[in-house]
Parts: sequence; C-alpha cells; structure tokens
Amino acid sequence: MAGEQSNGAKLPTIGGWDIDIVVQGYPGKSVCHGGLGWSTIALLRGYGRVAFIDVGSFSQRSIIQQSLESRGLTPADVTDVLLTHSHWDHSLNWVMFPQARIAIGTKELAWSLLEPWGMGPVPELYVRELDRLDRTVLVTAGDEVLPGIRAYDMPGHTPGHLVYRLHGEKNDILFTGDAAKNRAELLSLTADMTYDQMISRQSMERIWELWKDKPGTVLVPGHDVPMVIEDGKPAYIGERAAGISSWFGETLDQTKLFELTGR
Ligand SMILES: [Zn+2]
Repeated sequence: MAGEQSNGAKLPTIGGWDIDIVVQGYPGKSVCHGGLGWSTIALLRGYGRVAFIDVGSFSQRSIIQQSLESRGLTPADVTDVLLTHSHWDHSLNWVMFPQARIAIGTKELAWSLLEPWGMGPVPELYVRELDRLDRTVLVTAGDEVLPGIRAYDMPGHTPGHLVYRLHGEKNDILFTGDAAKNRAELLSLTADMTYDQMISRQSMERIWELWKDKPGTVLVPGHDVPMVIEDGKPAYIGERAAGISSWFGETLDQTKLFELTGR
C-alpha cells in the first residue's frame, strides 16, 4: 500500500450533489499509541459549490490536496466546510481553505471554547481561531446549510454535535459524524466516547428514525464504511480499506504490510 493512497469511493449522485468519500473512516483504536483518529472526509460538489463534510487532521492533508487536484480544483476553490463537531480528527484542516465558509454548531463552538486546555480532543487554538474568523457560520438545528442539506442536533459524543441530512428525491444521505461512529454503535445503541450514554442513545435512535424514513438512504458514519439498511440491518456499501506498512527490515524498501480490514 502506498503511503498516501486514498481509500475513498464514489456515492450515487443525490439531490443534485456529486458525492465522493475522500477518506473512509476506520472503526478502531490503536492499542498503545493513543487516539488513531482515522475519520471520514466527504467531498460534495453541486450548485456551484465545493464543500467538505469534516476535514480530518494533519495526516490527511495530502489526500485532501490530491482529491481536489484530481478533479481540477485547488483548496481555494472550496466554498464550504461543514463540521459535525470540533474534535481534532474531524476539524483541523479547515485552515487549508482560505475562501471557505466554515460551518459549526453554535452550541458546539461555545462548548469547545470553554473546554480546559490540554485535557481532551478539542483543538484549543483551532477553535479559538474559528471564533475570531469572519468566515465562520454558526449553525443551529433545522438550518439549511447548503441547498438541500439540513443540520440536526445530535448530542452525546459532544454537546453540540450536528448530523447533516442531504435530501434527495428518492433517498437521503446522513452524515452522522461521531454521533454514530460505526456499525457496532448503531446496532448496540451504545457509544464508545460519550459524556452521557442515554443522550447518545437518544441521538442514535433519532438517527435510525431519519435513516428508515426513506428506503435506500445512505448513512455515512464518522469512523466506518457507508451503509444502507438491508432487511432491517446496516449493510456496508463498498469495501473496507485500511492498513499499515512497517519498516522492520534493514532497508526502506523492505516493508511488511498489515491489512486492517478484519477479513
Ligand atoms: Zn469525535
């Protein structure tokens, strides 16, 4: 596996938006190196706009660059960034886009600014800058942030977490971020990282309601492969791709590949 290879995939065009999963999130933790933070990044193009839903962190910068370049775009062409929540693994790269409006929940930014420095996954300086930036757009539940894309309050993982629902004629797409990180959370209605398990559960039940509302609706989670409901259960669309290439030999061209796909 090449170091900067993307594991992205194309989703069907819905509601006038061309949708690419630029980075497919991963449902796992590292064993002894702290947070892994491999989160989903989606690129949406339509209505004359170029938008990302969540933008990842430092290690995804070259993948984002390449995803734009391969479509004849540059970071300056990005018009909108929609953040599901402020955690570092989803939010840091808003700084890559000098022209973009940066949408974040009103509650989420207010909460993030008050988090004690050095204690958790909120990137202290990045949220401080977002508070100062004139391109920041504060979102409240029900707002139509882009044509056909509405924000929903889904607290639990963070207090101001938003889910974005893209309305299509036949089916929708739900970008759930970390309100529902992976298939195991959706099935068990329990969350791995939450300030209140009951609040997370209520948000996941609401996500299920939205998901079941129209057959064929695609759910794009924060740390897993996109899914649709088949026979009442979440079924992945597309293959999981993840791995680590390690230098255990004596030269840089000797590498050992660890597939992390669970197969
Ligand atoms: Zn998170």
